[in-house]
Amino acid sequence: MKLRPDTLWNGFLDLLFPPKCPFCGAVLTRPGICAACADALPRTSDRDGFRTVRGLTCTAPLFYEGAARDTLLALKFSGRASVAEPLGALLATCAAERLPGMFDTVAAVPISRERRRTRGYNQSELLAEAACRHWDTRPERLLLKIADNPAQSGLPDAAARWKNVAGVYRLAPGRDVSGRRVLLVDDICTTGATLCECARVLRDGGAAAVYGLTVALTPAERKTIWKKRETIR
Ligand SMILES: [Zn+2]
Repeated sequence: MKLRPDTLWNGFLDLLFPPKCPFCGAVLTRPGICAACADALPRTSDRDGFRTVRGLTCTAPLFYEGAARDTLLALKFSGRASVAEPLGALLATCAAERLPGMFDTVAAVPISRERRRTRGYNQSELLAEAACRHWDTRPERLLLKIADNPAQSGLPDAAARWKNVAGVYRLAPGRDVSGRRVLLVDDICTTGATLCECARVLRDGGAAAVYGLTVALTPAERKTIWKKRETIR
């Protein structure tokens, strides 16, 4: 077997930084999720793992609670970019099982230039890249975020979240999405406002279909509890 250069490079990195479970930090012999976390994760099922908002169907492998919530917060707010790789594997499996053959390109929800500068990366892009490695492809930069609006997580209610994202995304210059079926990757689906607004831009640009794929969905019936906890943080 001929090793690809990125395989060699990843092997080198593993020597320096051994793979760790993204949920508990346990050092592993190969990238992935430790057995204890794999058993305990708040997984969605084919029955409750979909959310359709304003005509956009989204799916996620996990509910946004416990270790899933802690890991996504670490990815977004504590610079733990390394967790994106094993989370991408969860995304790839979820999409293969629940959206088989339903998309022909992958794109990430963009962040503003200002946010990218302060965070150093777009967490959704890292997740999309990690998922795409399982399909030997790369995500396309189909969308731009043109306004540095307040973070959705800090807003008080769904109405404020919908208002906050209206008109903040554009098709990236020179991108043609006409007739294409896009898998749109983000970290969390709460109200679905961000994904819906991105999907609207893609459909206005001629996309034939758009599906949302996130690491976690907020459990609908417990949304208010999470909202209260987020306010306390
Ligand atoms: Zn673990």
